[in-house]
Amino acid sequence: MKKQNIGINNFRVIAAIMVVAIHCYPFRSFFPLADMVFTLTLFRIAVPFFFMVSGFYILGQYEERKNYATRQKVINFIKKQLKVYALVSVLYLPLSLYTKTISLSMPLKNILQGIFFESFMYHLWYFPALILGTSIVAFLLQIIDIKWVLAITGLLYIIGLGGDSWSGVFGNIEMLKPLYKYIFIVFGGTRNGIFFAPLYLSVGTFLYHRKDRFGEHKKSRWFVLIISLVCLLVEGYVLQTFFAPNHTSMYLFLPLVMLSLFPIIYRWHPKHKIANADYLSFGIYVLHPYSIAIIHFAAKKIQILNNSLLFFIVVLFITTSIVLVVSWLKHKKISKKIIMENSSSRASKILSEKAIVNNLKEIQTNISPKTKVMAILKANGYGTSAPIIAKILVERGVDFFAVATIDEAIALRKNGVAEKILILGYTSPKRIKELANYSLIQTIVSEEHALALSAKKVEITCHIKVDTGMHRLGVEANSEKIALLYKFPFLNIQGIYSHLACADELTEQAVQRTKQQIRKYNFLIEDLKQQQIDIGITHLQSSYGIVNYPELEYDYVRPGIILYGMLSNESDKTKLVLNLNPVVKICAQLVCKHKVSAGESVGYGCATKLNKDTMVGIVSIGYCDGVPRELKESNFFLFINGQPIPQIGRICMDMVLVDLTLLPETRIETEIVVLQNIEKIATSCNTITNEVLSRLGNRFDTKISYF
Ligand SMILES: *Cc1c(COP(=O)(O)O)cnc(C)c1O
Repeated sequence: MKKQNIGINNFRVIAAIMVVAIHCYPFRSFFPLADMVFTLTLFRIAVPFFFMVSGFYILGQYEERKNYATRQKVINFIKKQLKVYALVSVLYLPLSLYTKTISLSMPLKNILQGIFFESFMYHLWYFPALILGTSIVAFLLQIIDIKWVLAITGLLYIIGLGGDSWSGVFGNIEMLKPLYKYIFIVFGGTRNGIFFAPLYLSVGTFLYHRKDRFGEHKKSRWFVLIISLVCLLVEGYVLQTFFAPNHTSMYLFLPLVMLSLFPIIYRWHPKHKIANADYLSFGIYVLHPYSIAIIHFAAKKIQILNNSLLFFIVVLFITTSIVLVVSWLKHKKISKKIIMENSSSRASKILSEKAIVNNLKEIQTNISPKTKVMAILKANGYGTSAPIIAKILVERGVDFFAVATIDEAIALRKNGVAEKILILGYTSPKRIKELANYSLIQTIVSEEHALALSAKKVEITCHIKVDTGMHRLGVEANSEKIALLYKFPFLNIQGIYSHLACADELTEQAVQRTKQQIRKYNFLIEDLKQQQIDIGITHLQSSYGIVNYPELEYDYVRPGIILYGMLSNESDKTKLVLNLNPVVKICAQLVCKHKVSAGESVGYGCATKLNKDTMVGIVSIGYCDGVPRELKESNFFLFINGQPIPQIGRICMDMVLVDLTLLPETRIETEIVVLQNIEKIATSCNTITNEVLSRLGNRFDTKISYF
């Protein structure tokens, strides 16, 4: 999963347990006051905490930089929550029907109120509140500053108080009576996405920007926390004892508690990280009402369950067990599905998530800890699947991608990739609006390119490419000229990079050329820094730059082929030997078979005359799909359950012929592995793996294997 703050990670689970407690009243049997003070007051920090986490991670970035990528992140988040809300509502439909919180005879108004504000099960209100609240705060952030957003959402919250814990007080004020009457008619209450969630979401958003300063004023933060906590407990006690509130979720001191508590949780570094905490806390939150219903029922027969503390513990235990079992089953089901799917595709790419994660880790552990990975996803992720690889890598914390063309970049954006994307190749200035709209980073490939882009008068982000000796793309490595580029209007230059021409060769001559390039690059960077230019980020090494020059230390490395689990040439010796696993395997089906007599020719041309009676099989994949036609019939083998099967005749556009004589019983639609060892295949075709991979066609089914 994404590298996340451990304190926040672990507190998610604690907060979920608090929510369960709120619905179980654990102290009721022996110390009811504790329920009033702790359960119904202190534990109320749980839900605001969840809202703040969303505000912090989702809206915080949007507040900091409003661009396509961060906007996309917010939209994706809302879409995901809509899906989750729909799913959990269906999950609870039986219980809601049983408890009559929803029925067919309900007036339309109540149904709408249920969908948008209250939900149909007591705890599910959280989802519409999150969706509505996020939309409101994102909208406000678009038009006004965060301070004003805080003011507006704070005001809504104050109004909300009057319909919640403070209803006993506000309800006695004549002037306010009509206001709350209408609020209740429209919204049914105030603990929702209008009056409650927006404030905590915007407080989370507000804190994101200030997270680097969480370490300051530690003492006063604790002081504020303790004072506000005491005030909160007194507030809860007084309101509940003397004012008979409608509800007990919204307190005046709660936002203050959260404002000081959140940074403390963020800076909490527990030794053990709870694995899958987001899944676990989500599961506990969503499922516990079912356990409550079950235990409630069981308590009628089993007396001891009427003890409130035991009731709470059993509910928690059962819920957690269900969550763990579901997560285990889900994992099993996925693997089963993949095995089944494999047998029914004409041609398929099978991607190994484990391999890509392994390769990333291998790279990360062998470069300087200061250096990050910019994953290269050009040519559809070297023929694999750029969106799938991107998704896996984003989950592992990769925050920068590179592609060759603007269309590849836009395709990634449309697939929900919100991270930074650098276009390595030339983009016509005619398409500058798309660069800006999709928040893409364009490489400046020459001075002319920079001039033409700047002349369009549209602000875009760029990296300068420097020609340090490859003589392909790049601006001359001249610090005065490059210093001028940094001052060009409309070009926001955030990085400077170059590309090594022969990092893969370790001959004396090649090493000299590479070292010359490195020197030129370093010299240039130093020179620009001397001129007080903020050069942005630096990156130089692609795969072979990493494995042959691992001691270099720039801000990013740009691995391509090694990320996909192989070297360009299987025989290459490298300084650093990484333990790489190939990410993709290509399969197809046996679609037909027949006996052909000795002396007959098979396939196109007359070259392949059979010298024995042969069972010929036809496999549904061809050179259009990327099986190189140059593969010679004598040394190209396909595999059925690990057994090699020789390919015969010429390779056709859509089919390959094989000699099935050794496995004549093979059934139609059996899966056949066509390209397994891409390194060997590249060698037999006199090319590099990069070419074989990037030429894989577009008629594949793509499947992910998690093993
Ligand atoms: C393709 C490319 C890479 C990745 O190359 P590999 O050798 O596959 O690692 C890195 N940088 C640039 C500029 C590229 O064009």
